[in-house]
Amino acid sequence: MINIIIFCMISFLVLFLLYTIFPTVLIRVTGWGITKKVKTEGIALTFDDGPSPEYTELLLDLLKKYDAKATFFVVGSNVKRNPEIIKRMYLEGHTIGIHHFDHISSWLLSPFQLKRQLNMTEMAIRECTNEKVTYYRPPWGHFNLFTLLLSKKYKVIMWSDIFGDWKVDKCKNGLLDQLRKTTEAGSILLLHDCGETWGADKEAPKFMMENLAIFLKENQNKGTRFVTLKDR
Ligand SMILES: [Zn+2]
Repeated sequence: MINIIIFCMISFLVLFLLYTIFPTVLIRVTGWGITKKVKTEGIALTFDDGPSPEYTELLLDLLKKYDAKATFFVVGSNVKRNPEIIKRMYLEGHTIGIHHFDHISSWLLSPFQLKRQLNMTEMAIRECTNEKVTYYRPPWGHFNLFTLLLSKKYKVIMWSDIFGDWKVDKCKNGLLDQLRKTTEAGSILLLHDCGETWGADKEAPKFMMENLAIFLKENQNKGTRFVTLKDR
C-alpha cells in the first residue's frame, strides 16, 4: 500500500514538473517562441499588472511629460474595473498587451483555463480600444506545456531587464542605478504600475515612479527614445 502511495506521489510530481517547470526553463533558456529584446534604436518600457486606479494615471502623466511611449501588459479584471484608463493609454499612443484576466500563473491553469484567461483579457482590451491585441506576457514569466500553442496568435514578450520594483525596499535602494545601466538599444525593461498582486508592496509603484521620473529626465537630455513594442 505504501509503495502505491509513493508511486502515485512520484508520478504526480513528474507530471507536474513536465507541465510547469520543464517548459518554463526550456523556453526561457533557449528563447524559443519568445522575445527578450527588440530591434529598435530606442528602449521599450513595459509595465505589468495594471491598470491601477491609484498609480496608472500618474504614470501616464509622467510618460506624457517626457514624451515617452510604453507597453502595458494588463490584467483583464483590472481593465474591466478601469476601462477609462485603458482608453486613455490607447489614445496617448501606448500599446496594450495581455497579462491574464486574473494575475494567476500558467502553472495553475489547465489548457482550457489558460485559453479562457487569454480570450477574456483580449475581449476586455478590445472593448476599450477596438484594436487587435498583439502582445502577451505570462504572469511571473511562467509557461505551461501548452502556453506557446495556445498563445500562438500573439507575440510572447519577456524582458531583457527586471528590477524587483514590486518591493518598496528595492525601489528605495538601487533601482535608479539599475535603470541607468539599461542603455542598450532594444532593451525591454520590466516595471510594474500596480502593487496589488501577490508578493508585491502596495505602495511600490509610487517609489518606482520617483526613480523613473529621474531616469526619464536624464534620458531626455541624452536624446533617448522610449518606444512601444509596435514602434520599430
Ligand atoms: Zn505580473
